[in-house]
Amino acid sequence: MYRTHNCGELRMDHVGQKVTLSGWVQIARNLGGLTFIDLRDRYGITQLAFNMDENSELCTQARKCGREFVIQATGVVKERSSKNANRPTGDVEIQVHELKLLNESIVPPFTIEDESDGGEELRLRYRYLDIRRNPVKDKLMFRHQVALETRKYLSQLGFLEIETPYLIKSTPEGARDFIVPSRMNSGQFYALPQSPQTFKQILMVAGMDKYFQIVRCFRDEDLRADRQPEFTQVDCEMSFVEVEDILQTFEGLVKSVYKSCLDIDLPELPRMNYDEAMESYGSDKPDLRFDLKFVELSKMKGNGFQLIDSADAIYGFVVKGKESSFSNKDINDLTEWVKRPQIGAKGLIYIKYGSEGIKSSIGKFYSDEQLTALSKSISAEKGDIVFILLGEKEKTLKQLGDLRLEVARRMDLIKTGDVKALWVLNFPLLEWNEEANRFFAMHHPFTSPLPEDLDKMNSTDRNTLASIRAAAYDLVINGSEIGGGSIRIHDRQIQARNFEILGFSKEEAEAQFGFLLGAFEYGAPPHGGIAFGLDRLCTIMQGGTSIRDYIAFPKNNMGRDVMIDAPSAIDEKQLKELNIKIG
Ligand code: ASP
Repeated sequence: MYRTHNCGELRMDHVGQKVTLSGWVQIARNLGGLTFIDLRDRYGITQLAFNMDENSELCTQARKCGREFVIQATGVVKERSSKNANRPTGDVEIQVHELKLLNESIVPPFTIEDESDGGEELRLRYRYLDIRRNPVKDKLMFRHQVALETRKYLSQLGFLEIETPYLIKSTPEGARDFIVPSRMNSGQFYALPQSPQTFKQILMVAGMDKYFQIVRCFRDEDLRADRQPEFTQVDCEMSFVEVEDILQTFEGLVKSVYKSCLDIDLPELPRMNYDEAMESYGSDKPDLRFDLKFVELSKMKGNGFQLIDSADAIYGFVVKGKESSFSNKDINDLTEWVKRPQIGAKGLIYIKYGSEGIKSSIGKFYSDEQLTALSKSISAEKGDIVFILLGEKEKTLKQLGDLRLEVARRMDLIKTGDVKALWVLNFPLLEWNEEANRFFAMHHPFTSPLPEDLDKMNSTDRNTLASIRAAAYDLVINGSEIGGGSIRIHDRQIQARNFEILGFSKEEAEAQFGFLLGAFEYGAPPHGGIAFGLDRLCTIMQGGTSIRDYIAFPKNNMGRDVMIDAPSAIDEKQLKELNIKIG
């Protein structure tokens, strides 16, 4: 037997017991006649003690144990004379009688401690060593708990976990597919699923009623800050449901996961229409941990200041009590920040409503009285500062949304540990793409319009089509999209019309999605669903910043797995078998 206990479980109750532990040497310390080893495993660290006077041979053997050696120790649990209150096992140690070396280790390339000296790339290369560190290990354990609670909750409600295939058909919508060549069908390719969307809908046609799957999804996108080419979704679908049923079911899931994994009771989730989210926060995933709600300011027009008078839209927000926190330099910095190409604003207007008077970048065109009246009309008080952007409406709202987040960051407006979750509802069904000169589905092509907007599907007018609202919803937590879904179209004719609006010819729709349209001819029930990003949910729940931390073996910024060195070239023979020529 390698062990009677693990390295995290011995307490004062065990004093006097003979035990055997196995694990890794965190550190060996020699203090004159005494040697101590901190022995580590997934569960914790226990101190082993060796006494030169009692057993010099054993003590010498202990002194030879280097970092990360794997050892087995048998001895008696003793109360420690100097206790370590920072460690759950810190009251006890093991007086060792028997020590067995199970395996040696070469010196690790970085320290395996909570604060490591290794850079990220190095730690990814030796991920097996990185995972031995508490911060990494704890996150993987947390992820397990979230997944387990999810499975429990959904299973209790009668959901079945059903696997869908990974080798599927490439479709042109959405992100780029990862492609897998088929050896047996020369010149033909599978694609890895971006999501099991069509399969879960077909499972509804198949009568499975409630489906879920914790499933890997693949998207070949350029990697932005916090994206991974493969990521995990909690993918769900239900039959005979309306939007309300879905919101209730999955609000329950989110609450139950927060309660069981973090002991946080979430209140009932507020709901916000997409239009309101854009108009008030400049984002379809508003961060409600701080206020800075937008105000519409077209009342500023008519003072003879051309820039303002001719603006398509003028919006701003009040930062309470921060007038004196913005020096001229801070405002210049922020102005440069909004002018960066990533944000794209032409400039930034401010009104400092100070106790000594009012100061503004538009002071030349507006009297102090006018600026004071304007400030008051938007509930600004002495001590506040107002930021204003103007320009084309949609762009201005987005830019102001970015500025809102930046000001919150700079002013430290986010309380750590705060959780603000909400549903965003009634997204537009379609999004016009200037470049492609056609509509794209805002969510995906299977999303149903709201019943009251269904008639508009027959229109050929671009504005009418753009105004169709979808029965689609997103779950947003702390400014991140954690989940999204929709009620689906279950009528073959409406689905065909949607493909038509999206610019598919009948033949293209048939070639790409014939299997789904075909299934819809055999009694498709009304259905809808949602998918949550598991990696992101875990990250947001623990206030983290990167989903990578919650993935055991993530890819780096270039989409590479630097541990196994993938992607890599394959040999001639394989290429030949696949009938692929390179170059
Ligand atoms: N398949 C969708 C997605 O991956 C989610 C859904 O509509 O259920 O975003």
